Amino acid sequence: MSRIYLSPPDVRGGEREAVLSAIDSNWIAPFGPDLDAFESEVQAATGVSASVGVTSGTAALHLALLALGITVGDEVLVPTFTFAAPANAAAYVGARPVLLDVDPETWTLSPDLVEEELRARARTGHLPKAVITVDLYGQCANYARLMPIFEEYGVLVVEDAAEALGASAFGQLAGSFGRCAAMSFNGNKIVTTSGGGMFLTNDHSMNDRVRLLANQAREPVSHYEHTEVGYNYRLSNLLAAFGRSQLATLKQRIERRKEINDRYRTALASIPGIQFMPLASYGEPNFWLTCITVDPDLVHTTPERLRLKLETHDIESRRLWKPMHMQPAFMDAPSRIDGTSESAFERGLCLPSGSGMTEKQLNTVIKHLLEALTSD
Ligand SMILES: *Cc1c(COP(=O)(O)O)cnc(C)c1O
Repeated sequence: MSRIYLSPPDVRGGEREAVLSAIDSNWIAPFGPDLDAFESEVQAATGVSASVGVTSGTAALHLALLALGITVGDEVLVPTFTFAAPANAAAYVGARPVLLDVDPETWTLSPDLVEEELRARARTGHLPKAVITVDLYGQCANYARLMPIFEEYGVLVVEDAAEALGASAFGQLAGSFGRCAAMSFNGNKIVTTSGGGMFLTNDHSMNDRVRLLANQAREPVSHYEHTEVGYNYRLSNLLAAFGRSQLATLKQRIERRKEINDRYRTALASIPGIQFMPLASYGEPNFWLTCITVDPDLVHTTPERLRLKLETHDIESRRLWKPMHMQPAFMDAPSRIDGTSESAFERGLCLPSGSGMTEKQLNTVIKHLLEALTSD
């Protein structure tokens, strides 16, 4: 039997032709018609008017902070409960991440803690320059509450929508909330280019600046002219061709992930002490990963034991994000922690959620999950 992965690439067939035709066209460079078209198509899928295809979501975050002028000695608010990329991006520009805990109702940046932190800092005159909000596991942060606070304190907003392509909140698409946003097309994301990402914005002059920086800061003259240090972050036209084919089926991909989420909910409904990632009423997530939490008082196993049990059946699952304030790399960062992320990390597990998962595979996972939860 073949291994069941957490969120493997879901290749539906058109990708091969798209890449071959890009090869035949000889646009085998980080320029070309597929890249231009992919940029436009992702803009349409995220509700913004400008974008730059880049080599990764992390590169998009890095460029976003550079373009906003975030630099050595500045501080950037980052939720502690997320992948390392946003905190890493802050470190790349010499800024210090300030780690804030998340809202138990959404697992995204807590508006209450943001308000507390900014109020306290306004008193001392040391406000952070920017924030990277994260739309976690495909659910948008609570922008209706967060945006007015950031506005009040003059904090620039970068939206990390890496996990949230196609999600929406308050009638607005993920990727369109901040001054700019980052999207990821890493292999485990809902749409992939194998590796890749995109910078998104409605600010066209900022977009021009990011395009320049992503292309070695090469000035638009006939010889090689550089007035500042740049980066080699452009996405390949071949990968963009692959991504276009993937993006064309975004709707079906989200539908399938939601279906999988529903199936897990139904299957585990009768098990006391199992809860799912809380879904906010303000939005439509893309159900990137289905995450459960296990109440230690009601379930006689731990997420780690559950993970190992599934592993014996060649099923991949994964613990939730280990909070950044618990990571050796960021332990010294200033933080405001209320225990929400630590508890979610202690109790949580991500289940196989790939849109390419077959019914047979899903039934296998559910069977072994139920076994593991009821036998221990
Ligand atoms: C995947 C991811 C990224 C980074 O994307 P890459 O393309 O892998 O660099 C950034 N932030 C979050 C929250 C992610 O999940």
